[in-house]
Amino acid sequence: MRVGYVFPEGRTRVLTFSYDDGNVADRRLADILTSCGMKGTFNLNAGWLLDDNHKTCIKADELQSLYLDKGHEVACHGFSHPREEMLLHGAMLNDVLQDRLELEKITGQIIKGMAYPFGSYNQDVIDTLATAGIVYCRTVASTNSTSLFPASGKDWLTWNPTCHHNGDIIRRIDPFLTNRYGLQMLYIWGHSYEFDRMDNWEVIEEFCDKMKNRKEVWYATNMEIYQYVEACRNLETSADCRTIYNPSCQNVFILAEDKVHEIQPGATLHI
Ligand SMILES: [Zn+2]
Repeated sequence: MRVGYVFPEGRTRVLTFSYDDGNVADRRLADILTSCGMKGTFNLNAGWLLDDNHKTCIKADELQSLYLDKGHEVACHGFSHPREEMLLHGAMLNDVLQDRLELEKITGQIIKGMAYPFGSYNQDVIDTLATAGIVYCRTVASTNSTSLFPASGKDWLTWNPTCHHNGDIIRRIDPFLTNRYGLQMLYIWGHSYEFDRMDNWEVIEEFCDKMKNRKEVWYATNMEIYQYVEACRNLETSADCRTIYNPSCQNVFILAEDKVHEIQPGATLHI
């Protein structure tokens, strides 16, 4: 029997955003996403947030109202935005942990997502992130695809986005909405200040306007995707897949013989 997972409420597509550096232009970007019912992940450098001399950075006391109250995610981006792979091992671990510690102190949340500063890393950085409790980390390597998904736990730490927002995102809408082969993910990254520099805010405004209110699209943060997919992967099944147990603490949705089933936390489904 064919049994697979689908996104919440049986949706087959997910749209997510990832923006770095916590620039003051995040205010305008977060407002656009919020007004269109979308969610983004904002990767912040606590060392910049807490530095009054860093004038282009948003301030620590804005995190709650700007991001969290609107359902956006705050994630790490290195305490001081270093090239992590250039640091000695202890300094690398300290930078990542310090970013987590300060962002968690400011937000009161558990923060385990990250984007690589400068998009650069090596195996030593990947291993250090795992030690520091980071569960996913975004690269800057575009897949130019909406069908690829991290295949294993390890791959979450080298999570490649679909494209930068200058990657012709309007043209990607139709293929994303019409592709019928498996679950689709459109993952856009960038820096909000680039819209100011290039004077092209209309790109993201038009994109969000065209993509909003789509019943087949799940609008999610990076962490929500990670947690949901992991919950689906951790479902326990009988050998014939007709009995499925959900040991996680969130509802999951599966597709079995063209019918969507919801499995509550701790519940067992018999098909
Ligand atoms: Zn950055």
